[in-house]
Amino acid sequence: MSQEHQQTIETVADLIHGANSVVVFTGAGISTESGIPDFRSAGGLWERYDPEEFTYQKFMSSENSRKLMWQLAKEFAPVLENAEPNPAHQAVVRLEEMNKLVCIITQNVDYLHQKAGNSESKVVELHGTMRYIRCLSCGQRYTAQEIQAVLEDGVEIPECHHCAGILKHEAIAFGEAMPAQAMLKAEHASKNCDVFIVIGSSLVVYPAASMPVVAKRSGASLIIVNREPTDLDSFADYIIRGSAGEAMDAILKSVEQRMDRA
Ligand code: NAD
Repeated sequence: MSQEHQQTIETVADLIHGANSVVVFTGAGISTESGIPDFRSAGGLWERYDPEEFTYQKFMSSENSRKLMWQLAKEFAPVLENAEPNPAHQAVVRLEEMNKLVCIITQNVDYLHQKAGNSESKVVELHGTMRYIRCLSCGQRYTAQEIQAVLEDGVEIPECHHCAGILKHEAIAFGEAMPAQAMLKAEHASKNCDVFIVIGSSLVVYPAASMPVVAKRSGASLIIVNREPTDLDSFADYIIRGSAGEAMDAILKSVEQRMDRA
C-alpha cells in the first residue's frame, strides 16, 4: 500500500469517526469479490449480452425477449443464491453497529447487504431485487427459488399460477419507472448526511448516480471507492482506488482503532 493511499484511508477514517450520519451507496463492484460479475468491467455481463435486449418495453411487448430474460435469470439464479457477502459488505455492517449508518442506497439486486447482516430497514434497493418475482396482472408474489424450479422443469416462459399473467422480477428493467418510495428515501438521506461513500459503481446509471451529487451539494464529504475512474471523480473529496473489500476493511479498522482510543 502506498503512503498516499494509506494517508487517504486515515483521513477518511477521521471523517467517519467524526460523523454522525453516513450514507453508503453501492454498485455492482461491491459484489464482484463475492463472485457476481458487474456490467461494465472486463468479463462483465455486457460483454456477453446486449443491454438493448433487456428493456422494459421489449420485455412487455415481445415473447422472444421474455424468453431471453428467463434464460439469463435461470443461468444466474444459482450464482445469486450461492453468493456470500465479502469484507466490503461486512465493513458496512460494522458501520451500522457503530450507529453511524443512516442507510445503504444500493443499485444491486443481489440481497448481499441483508445477507451480511445489515437491517432490512437500512437497505434502499433503488433498482429492486432479483429475490422476488411478481405477476404483473394480479400482483401474486413468488420467490426466485419457486420460479427457478419451474424453469428447471423445462418451462421457458413461466406464467402466474393464479391468472396466467406475465411474471417479472422485482428488479427494475431498463426503461422502467424507478420505485417512488425508494427514490424519496434515498434523496432525503443524501441531502441530510455528513459523509457519503460510493463503493463499486461506475456512476453512469441515472437517476441513481445523481445521489452523490445531491449529497455533495448539500454539504456532505464525498468519498469514492472504486477499482477504476468513475464519471464523478472530479466531484469527490477523496478517491480510494482499489479493491472494495480491502479498502473498506482498512477504513473500518482505522475507525475502530479511533473508537477504542476514545
Ligand atoms: P457497473 O458495472 O457500471 O460498475 C461497477 C464498477 O465497480 C466499475 O467501475 C468497476 O471498476 C468497479 N469494480 C468492480 N469490481 C470492483 C472491486 N472488487 N472493487 C472496487 N471496484 C470494483 O455497475 P453499477 O455502477 O452498479 O451500475 C450498473 C447496474 O448494474 C446497476 O443498475 C445494477 O442494478 C446492476 N447490476 C447489479 C449487480 C448486482 O446486484 N450484484 C450485478 C450486475 C449489475
